Amino acid sequence: MFNLILFGPPGSGKGTQSEKLMAKYGLKHLSTGDLLRSEINRQTPLGNEAQNFMDKGQLVPDEVVIGMISSAVDDNPGIKGFLFDGFPRTKEQAKALDKLLKLKKAPITAMLALEVSEEELIKRLLKRGETSGRSDDDNESVIRARINEYRSKTAVVADYYKQFDKVVMVKGEGTIDEIFARLCKEIDKRA
Ligand code: AMP
Repeated sequence: MFNLILFGPPGSGKGTQSEKLMAKYGLKHLSTGDLLRSEINRQTPLGNEAQNFMDKGQLVPDEVVIGMISSAVDDNPGIKGFLFDGFPRTKEQAKALDKLLKLKKAPITAMLALEVSEEELIKRLLKRGETSGRSDDDNESVIRARINEYRSKTAVVADYYKQFDKVVMVKGEGTIDEIFARLCKEIDKRA
């Protein structure tokens, strides 16, 4: 199995690049944000719990997200690999993912970390908010809260994977195709 993590702050282009990467490499895309929004749309108890956190730009509790990813991994046996997007976002989630993948004898191959300036992130998210229908994208204070959550809780996840020499920094500014080409170059080196 070939498992990748696409990492970066909100608005760094993870969703856009995931679509292209999954088409090219035949990976199963697992986005915890998408899974949570689907729970909210279906008005499940998990969705109702998650919505309170998401509306404020805060992270959903680890046990909720870990349980969701664990089921999604089990629901997809025999695949080529996973592309994790927006997960793990805390050190606890990273440890839980490692444990889960150890059982499948399929560790993370690499974490691709998109680097984008804060100014550019806010610009992109506000623009996305005009069309995405996501209430957490059209409010600047919620956007700033999400970026703060990233800095205080999520950035450390890169340090966690650095100790295993798995982090690859990729410049996340430029055109979609330029960024995609940079990601592919790094993936092909490790495939
Ligand atoms: P995203 O679509 O990745 O930007 O995620 C949207 C929101 O979903 C985040 O602001 C969090 O509230 C929640 N969320 C998504 N993934 C996670 C995660 N791995 N851990 C905790 N909360 C998450």
